[in-house]
Amino acid sequence: MRLYNTLTRTVEEFTTRDEGRVGIYVCGPTVQNVPHFGHARAAVVPDVLRRWLRYRGYQVFYVRNITDVEDKIIARAEQEGRPPAAVAEAYTRIYEEQMAQLNVMPPDVAPRATGHIIEMIGLIERLVEVGVAYEAGGDVFFSVRKFDPYGSLSGRNVDDLRSGARIEPTERKRDPLDFALWKAAKPGEPSWTSPWGRGRPGWHIECSAMAAKYLGVAFDVHAGGLDLIFPHHENEIAQSEAASGRRFARFWVHNGMVTLDDEKMSKSVGNVIGLGEALDRFGANILRLFLLSAHYRSPVDFSEARLEEARAGFDRWRAFVRATRSLPPPEGDPETVAEQRRRFEEAMDDDLGTPAAQAALFDLVADGNRALERGDEAAAAAARRVLVDLCGVLGYAFEDERQGSTLVAPLVEELLRLRMQARERRDFETADDIRSRLGDIGVIVEDSSQGPRWHIAAGREHGPQAAKR
Ligand SMILES: [Zn+2]
Repeated sequence: MRLYNTLTRTVEEFTTRDEGRVGIYVCGPTVQNVPHFGHARAAVVPDVLRRWLRYRGYQVFYVRNITDVEDKIIARAEQEGRPPAAVAEAYTRIYEEQMAQLNVMPPDVAPRATGHIIEMIGLIERLVEVGVAYEAGGDVFFSVRKFDPYGSLSGRNVDDLRSGARIEPTERKRDPLDFALWKAAKPGEPSWTSPWGRGRPGWHIECSAMAAKYLGVAFDVHAGGLDLIFPHHENEIAQSEAASGRRFARFWVHNGMVTLDDEKMSKSVGNVIGLGEALDRFGANILRLFLLSAHYRSPVDFSEARLEEARAGFDRWRAFVRATRSLPPPEGDPETVAEQRRRFEEAMDDDLGTPAAQAALFDLVADGNRALERGDEAAAAAARRVLVDLCGVLGYAFEDERQGSTLVAPLVEELLRLRMQARERRDFETADDIRSRLGDIGVIVEDSSQGPRWHIAAGREHGPQAAKR
């Protein structure tokens, strides 16, 4: 498998420190608000990398942190009039819930920054000890000039960065390039005791400390959004490598941004599409198909038209899976089916080429439909099996047919029977309540001359997590 490495700016042969095992660290969210569509991409891309490595037989250990102490959370707490810890807790829950709805596999470990203050203090002490960090009035700074390779990930030159940079009058640092490892407590802010007095960690040191704790000081893959390369990831490298003297992550994998009208989607710009809203309207499969139609390093422009195309595309896959559900299991793969699997694998091995991999799936479905038309059940069943298998690699889920027919349907029928009884005794309040509650969980009821009919709302057909809300 070949993978692009931001550090070397080349597509490299993928290798790991320990044969057959991969450690991945992904920068998780700063939990200060509900997720937007950009967060979906930052989670789906490393999720697909993880699933592909598993498919290739690696044992993957996946760490994604939660940044639950940070300036933005403190500002948000002020706005909402509740403690920063309550803000962080509430948005952490929403984030995890929406990631589950998006069918992103939960991390093996999801460390929270506030649970690792001791590790962060230990790392900062080490940096002071080796002479690359200094204390100033209760703050501790990293001295960028003392770390020679600084700028190697982002391709920036320290002298270029220096020109134009200046120290704000309120700052205690010696050089404008230096960044905070520890911030002295201000009144009313969350703080912890440290050798430098009460304070809290800077954002960058959080990831260095948590990555080292769970993956060791040197590990395989560090992932995150393109917007984190500078300064966040550059600073992580400086801190971790200055402390350990070893190379931090071997591979740096960065996903492109989600844009809206070609401008980066971000809270600060105010041009965000909420992930919750997108999930309600389209569901995980369509959102993932839309995102994976672009190469992970390219920007993706949010577009209703392209989401509708993704909906039509996924409908073709689903229709084929439904049309073939009662076929007997296939014996082996005919050549046309094996060929599409090879195409898919080659595309994924080539720096996670999901657009080409999905093109192979569309061809697989077209072949399968032709096999159905000519009555070749074995070929159609083989195509179905490979489609379902490879869709799992990209994180698509087809609804469980048994669940749809044997569990949900009788429950809905039973509720509709109770509704009918309520109407017969002229208890219209209860009748309307049943209908509206069914609507809330995505079951749409329409009354017709032959009695009520129901269906599951588009985008909500894929299983119990959609009905949980
Ligand atoms: Zn990070």
